[in-house]
Amino acid sequence: MARHVVPARWKSGMIEVGARIFAYVQASGIDPTGDTGVANSGLIVGSAGAVAVDALMVPTMTRKLVAAIKKTTKKPVAQLINTHHHLDHTGGNRFFAGATIVASAPCRAALAPGFPPVSLLQRFMPRFAAEFPRLKVVLPTVTFEDRMVLQDGDHEIQLWHPGFAAHTVGDAVVFLPKERVLFAGDIAFHYVTPLAFQGHIGNWIKAADRLLRYDADVIVPGHGPIGTRTDLKRMRDYLALVRREAKRRFDAGMPAEAAAADIKLGVYASWSDAERILPNVMRCYQEFRNELDQPMDLPRMLAGMERLRGARADHACL
Ligand SMILES: [Zn+2]
Repeated sequence: MARHVVPARWKSGMIEVGARIFAYVQASGIDPTGDTGVANSGLIVGSAGAVAVDALMVPTMTRKLVAAIKKTTKKPVAQLINTHHHLDHTGGNRFFAGATIVASAPCRAALAPGFPPVSLLQRFMPRFAAEFPRLKVVLPTVTFEDRMVLQDGDHEIQLWHPGFAAHTVGDAVVFLPKERVLFAGDIAFHYVTPLAFQGHIGNWIKAADRLLRYDADVIVPGHGPIGTRTDLKRMRDYLALVRREAKRRFDAGMPAEAAAADIKLGVYASWSDAERILPNVMRCYQEFRNELDQPMDLPRMLAGMERLRGARADHACL
């Protein structure tokens, strides 16, 4: 396994990554309960209007994002793209009133039943507990199957959905070919452990391989710092490591919890939220059993992650 330096903190705020193309990165690594729910967003400013990529999660986050957009451009946001249905990318949709919300058809279908129950969210992301009762679902109004192109007067904005479930059923990426900028949504996590509780790790590796062939100089991940193909490749290699090691233990009859505790993560142990190894192994086991159509046992997953996080904290105190 190749070693690499894992940044503990990274630059946050509205950051220009191309000609009038911005990544909005939320500050990370500041809370001991982890970074679940802390996602990135994007902004493309064209002559006809602005396009936003993802709406973040709770009102305090999205209000800051909207204020940062207003500081960056006077143009209204004409379109908001949802890269997938997860709450930390769609929770703030209602703050983009007047924008056309664009997503893949499976993303919209996955969002339509609503967000997970508030009590589950509060347990999963305790630091945002007070804001979850205020969430309201706003669905995408325009959907596409595998490809779509938006022209904003200055930029060609290509949307692509892999056609299968990777991180989720409805992942989409946003690519600007002229400026060589790729907003990868949650197909890319940089130095934040990827979370596959609704994904398909085998296919996620394929989707990441596909993105690695894009002619992109800048990759904005759904979580973690702005990077390049080198950073995305590291995440791809994490998924491959987890899938390979999970398969070995699955074939030997080891239960998923034991496998998650047994797998040596090496450098990936210092990526944030490393206890996501458990849901990732559980999801691999479902993949090996051909049971991915069944939802994961979320209370069991959360209890197991809390145990793993506690075990790591105890270890750190020794
Ligand atoms: Zn996600």
